Amino acid sequence: MQETFTLKGKRAVVTGSTSGIGLGIARALAAQGCKVMLNGFGEPEAIETLRRALEEEYGTEIAYNAADLSRAKECEALIRDAENSWGGVDILVNNAGIQHVAPVEDFPPERWDAVIAINLSSAFHTIRAALPGMKASGYGRIVNIASAHGLVASACKSAYVAAKHGVVGLTKVVALENAETGVTCNAICPGWVLTALVEKQIHARAEAENLSVEEASRHLLSEKQPSKRFTTVDELGELTVFLCGPAAGNITGASMPVDGGWTAQ
Ligand code: NAD
Repeated sequence: MQETFTLKGKRAVVTGSTSGIGLGIARALAAQGCKVMLNGFGEPEAIETLRRALEEEYGTEIAYNAADLSRAKECEALIRDAENSWGGVDILVNNAGIQHVAPVEDFPPERWDAVIAINLSSAFHTIRAALPGMKASGYGRIVNIASAHGLVASACKSAYVAAKHGVVGLTKVVALENAETGVTCNAICPGWVLTALVEKQIHARAEAENLSVEEASRHLLSEKQPSKRFTTVDELGELTVFLCGPAAGNITGASMPVDGGWTAQ
């Protein structure tokens, strides 16, 4: 009899998972019984409290690594930490990301470098480090959190749009190179999700246009996202779980919009 596939005990690394989408994905994987290595910035005490709370809630092992993903060596060290702790990495979710908003001619070059390093190059470095182990075991799931901005552009987001289009391209190449190995690589392309990254943009807009925060949110949504509601972190967590499961075994190199119709326009 064929054994039923389960994510229980699978070893997952989720970058940028101390808040927002990454935390939602970490929760969804932990709920399936995955061991999860968290990563991201924050107060050490708050992160430790979060780590313990997740462990208790989901009854699985939750670890934390403080790697700064703007540095190539730390990306690799993050993967090695999970491999050394658990004997391998089965699931890698590249989610860490930052935003900077300014027209090209005013865009500070050091912000460009930071956005490209964290949003794009870190995915290359972690994938590069994780692939040999995944291939050796014959199972691997790489999920890159790109964006609607990996498929279309918006003004004043040159570095972010370039990085996210880069993530979509990297996803396709990794998928092709590993198509026969049991390792899949896909990108999720969310539209607006109400996280710290977007709250900052809503507040900036409210101030610039003299609007309430609620009005600024409504404007932001109606401009781009036809569903006129935010994508939730739970929806992104469930999609990640699906991509890690057996029904998604032949989905690779795909970039999946979860954007309420944004990129259908
Ligand atoms: P967030 O700010 O809530 O979370 C970002 C996470 O990345 C945090 O845990 C932060 O500590 C971590 N991080 C930032 N710099 C880091 C670094 N140098 N090293 C390690 N960790 C670092 O933002 P979010 O909205 O949850 O964004 C998560 C991902 O989703 C990003 O890649 C973002 O581009 C993407 N995304 C977000 C939206 C949205 O509307 N919120 C839409 C599409 C795509």
